[in-house]
Amino acid sequence: MIDLHTHTFFSDGVLIPSELVYRAKFLNYAAIAITDHIDYSNMDFVIPKIVEVSKVLTDNYEIFVLPGAELTYIPPKLIGAATEKCRKLGAKIIVVHGETKAETVPPQTNLSAVKADIDILAHPGFLSEEEAEIAAKNDIKIEITTRNFHKKTNDAVARVALQKSAKLVLNTDAHQPDNLLTKQIIKETLAAAGLEENYYEIMLKNSREIISKYQKGAKER
Ligand SMILES: [Zn+2]
Ligand SMILES: [Zn+2]
Repeated sequence: MIDLHTHTFFSDGVLIPSELVYRAKFLNYAAIAITDHIDYSNMDFVIPKIVEVSKVLTDNYEIFVLPGAELTYIPPKLIGAATEKCRKLGAKIIVVHGETKAETVPPQTNLSAVKADIDILAHPGFLSEEEAEIAAKNDIKIEITTRNFHKKTNDAVARVALQKSAKLVLNTDAHQPDNLLTKQIIKETLAAAGLEENYYEIMLKNSREIISKYQKGAKER
């Protein structure tokens, strides 16, 4: 299993990175990204810490740990610039906190996100056809989430994304250990999103595509 959207207590998760990662390894994860919430107040503090611990954990725990960041409530027109700053600080997986219907995310967040050099648009709420088209063209993955409330629009998101050939990934947005992936959670989430159970293989391939970009240093990541 691969999960490219998780939180630790460097933002609002309950676990320290080492415990989150070890618990994921215990559940047979192959790879995990730590993507704590960041904005202009904390990116320069949080990201280097996550970069450092990701290396230590990858070297010692037989699980590939990617340092990332979730751009959260960033003014939409600054998403591109903030992404660039996060990459300079060492973040490999850039997730944008999309316009979930469970919250009041600034309008235009989804559209700005798919135009920036990000990896994943998380819980987009309702994805427009235009957003899906741009995501497909820019190879930005669209998230299907296992997270409560955010997951309510998964079926609509999956439908529009697939119509426009945008690629889907499955992430947990875990804030606590029982949010991490299990076979049962995957099965239930895919069914509710209107996807076949074996569609998870394609989502895994899409997640691996993101990871291999980083491993090969493509786009100088
Ligand atoms: Zn959070
Ligand atoms: Zn999140």
